Amino acid sequence: MDQPEEFLSYEAFRQRAEVVLAEIAEACGRSGRKPAEVELLAVTKNHPPAAAEYAARLGLRAVGENRVQEGVAKRQASNAPALAWELIGHLQSNKAKLAAAHFDRIQSVDGPKLLDHLARAAAEAGRVLPVLLQVNAGRDPAKFGAELEDAPALLDRALALPSLRIDGLMTIAPLSGDPLCARRAFAALRELRDRLAAASGLPLATLSMGMSGDLGDAVAEGSTQVRIGTALFGSRARIA
Ligand SMILES: *Cc1c(COP(=O)(O)O)cnc(C)c1O
Repeated sequence: MDQPEEFLSYEAFRQRAEVVLAEIAEACGRSGRKPAEVELLAVTKNHPPAAAEYAARLGLRAVGENRVQEGVAKRQASNAPALAWELIGHLQSNKAKLAAAHFDRIQSVDGPKLLDHLARAAAEAGRVLPVLLQVNAGRDPAKFGAELEDAPALLDRALALPSLRIDGLMTIAPLSGDPLCARRAFAALRELRDRLAAASGLPLATLSMGMSGDLGDAVAEGSTQVRIGTALFGSRARIA
C-alpha cells in the first residue's frame, strides 16, 4: 500500500473537506439542524494510509473502511494513533474475530449469525464492541442489510448480548437515477429507528446514512453520520 504519486496533497484534501463541510452545513440549515449533529466519517478505502493521516490532521474522529484486511493493514501503516476505525463494508462471519479485534465499531451487522460471532469475539477479548445494525432500507436487491421487517428481531437478539453495544442503524441508499429513491430510504431508516428506540427504550442515536452523492438528502432525513469517500479524496479508480 505504498502511497501512489498521484494521491492528493493535504492542502487539496483540506479544500475538498471544506466544500463537504459547507454542504453538510447548508443541508442542516435547510432542515433546522445544527452542523455539530452530523459527523463526517472519512471513507479511506482504496486510498493509501496518508488518507487516514489527513483525516486525523483535519480533526476528524474516525475513518471508515469496507474491507477487514485492508483496514487492519492501513491502521498499522498509518501514523494517527487517536483515530477511530469503523468497518462499513460487508462482513463475513469467518472474519468477525479479526474485525472485532481491530475496529472500534462495526457498522455492517446485518444478521443473527454475524451478531453472535461478533459477540463471542468481543466477549473473548474482554471488551464491549460498539455496532450499528445495517438495514436495507431502500429494499435494493443489490445491497446487503437486514430487511426492514427483520430489524426488530435482530435488535432483540443484539440486546441479549452484553458484549455488544448497539449505537444505532446504518443504511446504503439504492443507486438510482431518482433522488427521491434515496430520500425515501433515509426516511424509512429514521422511522424504523424511532420505532425501535420507542420500543426498546434505547436512544439508538446514530443514524449512519449518506455518501458523496446523496448527503444532502440524508442530512434532511436525520443522518448523524455521513460516510464520504469520493468527495474528500477523489476517485478511487486509479489505485483500486
Ligand atoms: C465507499 C463507501 C462509502 C463512500 O462512498 P462515496 O460515494 O465515495 O462517498 C460510503 N459507505 C459505504 C458503505 C461505502 O462502501
